[in-house]
Amino acid sequence: MTYIKDFDKAKIQTLLSENQKITILGHHNPDGDAVSGCTALFEVFRQLNKDVQLVMPSKISEAIKNIPNVEHIVFHEKDKEKAEKIFAETQVLFCIDFNAYKRAGDVLSPVLQACKAFKIMIDHHPQPEMCADIIISDTSVSSASELVYEVITELGWTNHVNQKVAESLFTGIMTDTNNFSVNCSRARTFEIAAHLLAKGIDRERIYEQVFNNYTEGRLRFTGYFLDKKMIIDHDLKISVATFSKREQDNYGFKHGDHEGLVNMPLSISGVEVSILALEHDDFLKLSFRSKGAVDVNVFARKFFNGGGHVRAAGGKLYKVKPHPATQFLIEKFAEYIKSEII
Ligand code: 5GP
Ligand code: MN
Repeated sequence: MTYIKDFDKAKIQTLLSENQKITILGHHNPDGDAVSGCTALFEVFRQLNKDVQLVMPSKISEAIKNIPNVEHIVFHEKDKEKAEKIFAETQVLFCIDFNAYKRAGDVLSPVLQACKAFKIMIDHHPQPEMCADIIISDTSVSSASELVYEVITELGWTNHVNQKVAESLFTGIMTDTNNFSVNCSRARTFEIAAHLLAKGIDRERIYEQVFNNYTEGRLRFTGYFLDKKMIIDHDLKISVATFSKREQDNYGFKHGDHEGLVNMPLSISGVEVSILALEHDDFLKLSFRSKGAVDVNVFARKFFNGGGHVRAAGGKLYKVKPHPATQFLIEKFAEYIKSEII
């Protein structure tokens, strides 16, 4: 699905020329891509002297705190009144890196749904569900940040891609592609990355901040995960690991520490899908990764009220304790594979 060239540029230009109040929103538990896409667009609008606000449903992890303009984010979870006033007043709302109301999180989702603003979605996940007035959705790009770059270009704002915009967008592409290893087979991704690098950004510093900035506990937890907890079913070609809250607490596990862990079992030859389940207060947060033909987006949607991409998706599991969850997940996966084959 490619809509890059198809969106109504004239409509967006008209809306913005009327000097409207603009808000930019990312998804719940925003990752590097969501934050970067939003902060980059925010920077462009600031250069265009627009009245623009930046909102995130919930907090961001330590690794992405250095992205330019993060200091301007209003967090709905922390500053509910302020954020909801912004939603009540905004006239144009950009939704970045998500395509369903529920991805704004349980608390913000109804506010978003009720928001009367003209909504413009810029996203790269399959099967858009949200009622946006303009949908710019493309699953062939590496990241929402890459798509934001394309939109900036299409709208004639390339000269506003300054060092801050470049640093943001490069971080977004870098995080969503796991440092240019997945989701980046398009030559255009590298052309864009080259253009962003040419803006004088420090790629090595960004890499260090994003990938080498974890706690000691997270690495020790990784050892425990790989040595003691990773269950491999060779027939189904999957790896499953499930952790209670207590196990995470034992290692001082913090928000964002799970990033990247689920990818590790995929380095094993013959393991095609990896599942990681982390216990939260009243549910298990599930992460799915695939390196082959198995579509984990469909798996997550079908069984776990989740979604994502073909090769990276997430969901939630309620009312199942961490220990029995391992077997439960293996059984659901077997059921899914069987139904896909038939
Ligand atoms: P992660 O495993 O890193 O949390 O998520 C992987 C991918 O799946 C990301 O693209 C994320 O946006 C998406 N994702 C994670 N959880 C959910 C969910 O509950 N619903 C949907 N629709 N997508 C999700
Ligand atoms: Mn993304």
